[in-house]
Amino acid sequence: MFVSMKDMLLKAQKEGYAVPNFCIWNTEMLQGVMDATEEAQAPIILSFGSGFLENTDIDHFIKMMVSMADKATVPACIHWDHGRSFEIVSHAVDIGYTAIMIDASAYDLETNIKLTKEVVDKFKPLGIPIEAELGHVGAETIYEEAIAAYGYTDPTQAAEFCERTGIDFLATAIGNQHGVYTSEPKINYPVLEAVRAAVDIPLVLHGASGIGDEDIRKCIARGITKINIHTELCQAAMIAIEANQERKLPYLKLQQEVRKEVAKRAMEKIKLFGCYGKARS
Ligand SMILES: [Zn+2]
Repeated sequence: MFVSMKDMLLKAQKEGYAVPNFCIWNTEMLQGVMDATEEAQAPIILSFGSGFLENTDIDHFIKMMVSMADKATVPACIHWDHGRSFEIVSHAVDIGYTAIMIDASAYDLETNIKLTKEVVDKFKPLGIPIEAELGHVGAETIYEEAIAAYGYTDPTQAAEFCERTGIDFLATAIGNQHGVYTSEPKINYPVLEAVRAAVDIPLVLHGASGIGDEDIRKCIARGITKINIHTELCQAAMIAIEANQERKLPYLKLQQEVRKEVAKRAMEKIKLFGCYGKARS
Protein backbone atom coordinates (compact mmCIF):
# COMPACT_ATOMS: atom_id res chain seq x y z
CA MET A 1 0.00 0.00 0.00
CA PHE A 2 1.16 3.50 -0.75
CA VAL A 3 2.13 5.60 2.24
CA SER A 4 3.77 8.99 2.60
CA MET A 5 7.54 8.65 2.74
CA LYS A 6 7.52 11.35 5.37
CA ASP A 7 5.25 9.33 7.68
CA MET A 8 7.26 6.19 6.94
CA LEU A 9 10.59 7.77 7.83
CA LEU A 10 9.35 9.73 10.84
CA LYS A 11 8.09 6.43 12.30
CA ALA A 12 11.47 4.79 11.58
CA GLN A 13 13.31 7.72 13.14
CA LYS A 14 11.16 7.56 16.25
CA GLU A 15 11.61 3.81 16.62
CA GLY A 16 15.31 3.74 15.76
CA TYR A 17 15.47 1.66 12.58
CA ALA A 18 16.15 2.44 8.92
CA VAL A 19 14.07 1.80 5.80
CA PRO A 20 15.81 0.33 2.75
CA ASN A 21 15.76 2.48 -0.37
CA PHE A 22 16.29 -0.16 -3.05
CA CYS A 23 17.47 1.36 -6.33
CA ILE A 24 16.01 -0.91 -9.00
CA TRP A 25 15.66 -0.74 -12.78
CA ASN A 26 14.39 -4.08 -14.08
CA THR A 27 11.72 -6.62 -13.26
CA GLU A 28 13.93 -9.19 -11.53
CA MET A 29 15.29 -6.51 -9.19
CA LEU A 30 11.83 -5.07 -8.55
CA GLN A 31 10.22 -8.46 -7.96
CA GLY A 32 13.19 -9.67 -5.90
CA VAL A 33 13.06 -6.76 -3.43
CA MET A 34 9.25 -7.00 -3.24
CA ASP A 35 9.49 -10.76 -2.50
CA ALA A 36 11.81 -10.01 0.44
CA THR A 37 9.81 -7.12 1.79
CA GLU A 38 6.54 -9.04 1.66
CA GLU A 39 8.09 -12.00 3.43
CA ALA A 40 9.67 -9.73 6.04
CA GLN A 41 6.59 -7.52 6.36
CA ALA A 42 8.89 -4.52 6.20
CA PRO A 43 8.32 -1.03 4.78
CA ILE A 44 10.05 -0.35 1.46
CA ILE A 45 11.15 2.52 -0.77
CA LEU A 46 11.41 1.70 -4.48
CA SER A 47 13.82 4.06 -6.12
CA PHE A 48 14.92 4.93 -9.64
CA GLY A 49 17.11 7.72 -10.98
CA SER A 50 18.63 9.22 -14.12
CA GLY A 51 21.62 6.86 -14.00
CA PHE A 52 19.38 3.98 -15.05
CA LEU A 53 17.73 5.62 -18.06
CA GLU A 54 20.10 3.94 -20.51
CA ASN A 55 18.79 0.58 -19.27
CA THR A 56 15.13 1.25 -18.67
CA ASP A 57 12.36 3.34 -20.20
CA ILE A 58 10.95 4.76 -17.00
CA ASP A 59 7.72 6.06 -18.55
CA HIS A 60 6.72 2.39 -18.91
CA PHE A 61 8.57 0.83 -15.96
CA ILE A 62 6.99 3.28 -13.51
CA LYS A 63 3.63 1.65 -14.17
CA MET A 64 4.92 -1.66 -12.84
CA MET A 65 6.55 0.04 -9.85
CA VAL A 66 3.31 1.87 -9.02
CA SER A 67 1.23 -1.27 -9.44
CA MET A 68 3.47 -3.36 -7.19
CA ALA A 69 3.69 -0.66 -4.51
CA ASP A 70 -0.09 -0.19 -4.62
CA LYS A 71 -0.86 -3.90 -4.32
CA ALA A 72 1.82 -4.60 -1.68
CA THR A 73 0.61 -5.68 1.76
CA VAL A 74 3.42 -3.54 3.26
CA PRO A 75 3.88 0.26 3.36
CA ALA A 76 5.60 1.32 0.13
CA CYS A 77 6.60 4.47 -1.69
CA ILE A 78 8.27 5.39 -4.93
CA HIS A 79 11.17 7.80 -4.89
CA TRP A 80 13.10 9.59 -7.65
CA ASP A 81 16.80 9.44 -6.78
CA HIS A 82 19.34 12.22 -7.52
CA GLY A 83 17.16 14.51 -9.62
CA ARG A 84 19.70 17.08 -10.76
CA SER A 85 17.28 19.71 -12.10
CA PHE A 86 13.80 21.10 -11.57
CA GLU A 87 12.73 19.66 -14.94
CA ILE A 88 13.86 16.14 -14.03
CA VAL A 89 11.99 16.02 -10.72
CA SER A 90 8.91 17.63 -12.33
CA HIS A 91 8.80 14.82 -14.88
CA ALA A 92 9.18 12.28 -12.08
CA VAL A 93 6.13 13.69 -10.28
CA ASP A 94 4.18 13.87 -13.55
CA ILE A 95 4.64 10.14 -14.18
CA GLY A 96 3.75 9.02 -10.65
CA TYR A 97 6.59 9.46 -8.17
CA THR A 98 5.39 10.13 -4.63
CA ALA A 99 8.73 11.35 -3.27
CA ILE A 100 11.73 13.04 -4.89
CA MET A 101 15.35 13.94 -4.31
CA ILE A 102 16.65 17.19 -5.74
CA ASP A 103 20.41 16.87 -5.86
CA ALA A 104 22.17 20.20 -6.32
CA SER A 105 25.05 19.09 -4.10
CA ALA A 106 27.63 19.58 -6.85
CA TYR A 107 26.97 23.36 -6.65
CA ASP A 108 28.03 25.87 -4.01
CA LEU A 109 25.88 26.30 -0.90
CA GLU A 110 23.82 29.26 -2.12
CA THR A 111 23.04 27.62 -5.47
CA ASN A 112 22.19 24.34 -3.72
CA ILE A 113 19.80 26.22 -1.41
CA LYS A 114 18.22 28.14 -4.31
CA LEU A 115 17.59 25.09 -6.54
CA THR A 116 16.42 22.96 -3.62
CA LYS A 117 14.04 25.64 -2.36
CA GLU A 118 12.46 26.03 -5.82
CA VAL A 119 11.62 22.32 -5.77
CA VAL A 120 10.34 22.45 -2.18
CA ASP A 121 8.16 25.51 -2.89
CA LYS A 122 6.58 23.81 -5.88
CA PHE A 123 6.13 20.22 -4.68
CA LYS A 124 5.84 20.28 -0.90
CA PRO A 125 2.38 21.91 -1.08
CA LEU A 126 1.35 18.97 -3.30
CA GLY A 127 2.24 16.53 -0.53
CA ILE A 128 5.47 15.32 -2.14
CA PRO A 129 8.24 14.95 0.47
CA ILE A 130 11.68 16.12 -0.63
CA GLU A 131 15.21 14.87 0.01
CA ALA A 132 18.28 17.00 -0.72
CA GLU A 133 22.01 16.56 -0.24
CA LEU A 134 24.52 18.78 1.56
CA GLY A 135 28.19 18.01 1.07
CA HIS A 136 28.80 15.76 -1.91
CA VAL A 137 28.78 11.96 -2.24
CA GLY A 138 30.83 11.37 -5.35
CA ALA A 139 30.38 9.03 -8.28
CA GLU A 140 32.07 5.64 -8.44
CA THR A 141 35.86 6.06 -8.45
CA ILE A 142 38.99 4.99 -6.54
CA TYR A 143 37.90 5.36 -2.91
CA GLU A 144 41.28 6.52 -1.58
CA GLU A 145 41.29 9.36 -4.11
CA ALA A 146 37.69 10.27 -3.34
CA ILE A 147 38.27 10.40 0.40
CA ALA A 148 41.41 12.56 0.00
CA ALA A 149 39.31 15.35 -1.54
CA TYR A 150 35.99 14.48 0.09
CA GLY A 151 33.11 16.95 0.43
CA TYR A 152 31.78 16.12 3.91
CA THR A 153 28.45 17.54 5.01
CA ASP A 154 29.30 20.70 6.93
CA PRO A 155 27.49 20.42 10.28
CA THR A 156 27.56 24.19 10.74
CA GLN A 157 25.71 24.62 7.41
CA ALA A 158 23.25 21.77 7.94
CA ALA A 159 20.76 23.64 10.14
CA GLU A 160 20.77 26.67 7.83
CA PHE A 161 20.36 24.44 4.77
CA CYS A 162 17.36 22.61 6.24
CA GLU A 163 15.77 25.76 7.62
CA ARG A 164 16.12 27.84 4.45
CA THR A 165 15.00 25.07 2.08
CA GLY A 166 12.30 23.32 4.15
CA ILE A 167 13.36 19.84 3.00
CA ASP A 168 12.03 16.69 4.66
CA PHE A 169 15.14 14.46 4.57
CA LEU A 170 18.84 15.27 4.42
CA ALA A 171 21.32 13.12 2.47
CA THR A 172 24.65 13.16 4.26
CA ALA A 173 28.21 12.89 2.96
CA ILE A 174 30.10 11.19 5.79
CA GLY A 175 32.74 9.15 3.96
CA ASN A 176 30.20 7.18 1.90
CA GLN A 177 30.57 6.85 -1.88
CA HIS A 178 28.52 5.43 -4.73
CA GLY A 179 29.45 2.17 -6.41
CA VAL A 180 32.01 -0.41 -5.33
CA TYR A 181 34.42 0.59 -2.53
CA THR A 182 38.01 -0.04 -3.60
CA SER A 183 39.08 -0.05 0.06
CA GLU A 184 37.41 -0.18 3.47
CA PRO A 185 34.88 2.67 3.81
CA LYS A 186 35.77 5.17 6.53
CA ILE A 187 32.61 6.60 8.05
CA ASN A 188 33.24 9.90 9.81
CA TYR A 189 31.15 9.56 12.97
CA PRO A 190 32.01 12.97 14.45
CA VAL A 191 30.55 14.58 11.30
CA LEU A 192 27.43 12.39 11.46
CA GLU A 193 26.94 13.12 15.16
CA ALA A 194 27.38 16.86 14.63
CA VAL A 195 24.87 16.86 11.74
CA ARG A 196 22.41 14.87 13.88
CA ALA A 197 22.79 17.41 16.67
CA ALA A 198 22.22 20.30 14.25
CA VAL A 199 19.01 19.10 12.52
CA ASP A 200 16.05 16.96 13.52
CA ILE A 201 14.80 15.58 10.18
CA PRO A 202 15.56 11.99 9.05
CA LEU A 203 19.08 11.51 7.64
CA VAL A 204 19.89 9.50 4.53
CA LEU A 205 22.91 7.32 3.71
CA HIS A 206 23.72 6.89 0.00
CA GLY A 207 26.25 4.41 -1.34
CA ALA A 208 25.62 1.95 1.48
CA SER A 209 26.49 -1.17 -0.54
CA GLY A 210 29.79 -2.44 0.80
CA ILE A 211 29.61 -0.60 4.13
CA GLY A 212 30.07 -3.23 6.86
CA ASP A 213 27.24 -4.35 9.13
CA GLU A 214 28.78 -2.82 12.25
CA ASP A 215 29.16 0.57 10.56
CA ILE A 216 25.56 0.39 9.31
CA ARG A 217 24.30 -0.30 12.85
CA LYS A 218 26.36 2.60 14.20
CA CYS A 219 24.98 4.91 11.48
CA ILE A 220 21.39 3.93 12.32
CA ALA A 221 22.07 4.51 16.03
CA ARG A 222 23.24 8.02 15.08
CA GLY A 223 20.18 9.01 13.06
CA ILE A 224 20.46 7.43 9.60
CA THR A 225 16.86 6.49 8.74
CA LYS A 226 16.92 5.79 4.98
CA ILE A 227 19.66 3.67 3.42
CA ASN A 228 20.22 3.44 -0.34
CA ILE A 229 21.28 0.09 -1.79
CA HIS A 230 21.97 -0.48 -5.47
CA THR A 231 25.41 -1.98 -6.10
CA GLU A 232 24.83 -4.97 -3.81
CA LEU A 233 21.62 -5.85 -5.68
CA CYS A 234 23.64 -5.87 -8.92
CA GLN A 235 26.32 -7.99 -7.25
CA ALA A 236 23.65 -10.44 -6.04
CA ALA A 237 22.31 -10.70 -9.60
CA MET A 238 25.82 -11.43 -10.88
CA ILE A 239 26.30 -14.17 -8.27
CA ALA A 240 23.22 -15.93 -9.67
CA ILE A 241 24.34 -15.45 -13.26
CA GLU A 242 27.89 -16.71 -12.65
CA ALA A 243 26.79 -19.63 -10.47
CA ASN A 244 24.45 -20.85 -13.20
CA GLN A 245 26.71 -20.29 -16.20
CA GLU A 246 28.02 -23.85 -16.32
CA ARG A 247 24.57 -25.31 -15.91
CA LYS A 248 23.61 -23.48 -19.10
CA LEU A 249 20.23 -22.60 -17.70
CA PRO A 250 17.76 -21.20 -20.19
CA TYR A 251 17.26 -17.45 -19.79
CA LEU A 252 13.72 -18.02 -18.56
CA LYS A 253 15.07 -20.01 -15.57
CA LEU A 254 18.14 -17.83 -15.07
CA GLN A 255 15.90 -14.80 -14.56
CA GLN A 256 14.18 -16.64 -11.71
CA GLU A 257 17.54 -17.40 -10.09
CA VAL A 258 18.49 -13.72 -10.30
CA ARG A 259 15.24 -12.73 -8.66
CA LYS A 260 15.84 -15.20 -5.81
CA GLU A 261 19.41 -13.98 -5.21
CA VAL A 262 18.25 -10.34 -5.21
CA ALA A 263 15.54 -11.24 -2.69
CA LYS A 264 18.11 -12.96 -0.47
CA ARG A 265 20.36 -9.89 -0.40
CA ALA A 266 17.40 -7.56 0.17
CA MET A 267 16.32 -9.72 3.13
CA GLU A 268 19.80 -9.44 4.68
CA LYS A 269 19.55 -5.64 4.46
CA ILE A 270 16.02 -5.57 5.89
CA LYS A 271 17.20 -7.55 8.92
CA LEU A 272 20.36 -5.46 9.31
CA PHE A 273 18.40 -2.19 9.15
CA GLY A 274 16.07 -3.34 11.94
CA CYS A 275 12.88 -2.99 9.90
CA TYR A 276 11.87 -6.67 9.78
CA GLY A 277 8.19 -6.90 10.81
CA LYS A 278 7.82 -3.11 11.01
CA ALA A 279 4.96 -3.12 8.50
CA ARG A 280 2.78 -4.60 11.22
CA SER A 281 3.82 -2.59 14.26
ZN1 LIG B 1 22.94 8.18 -4.20
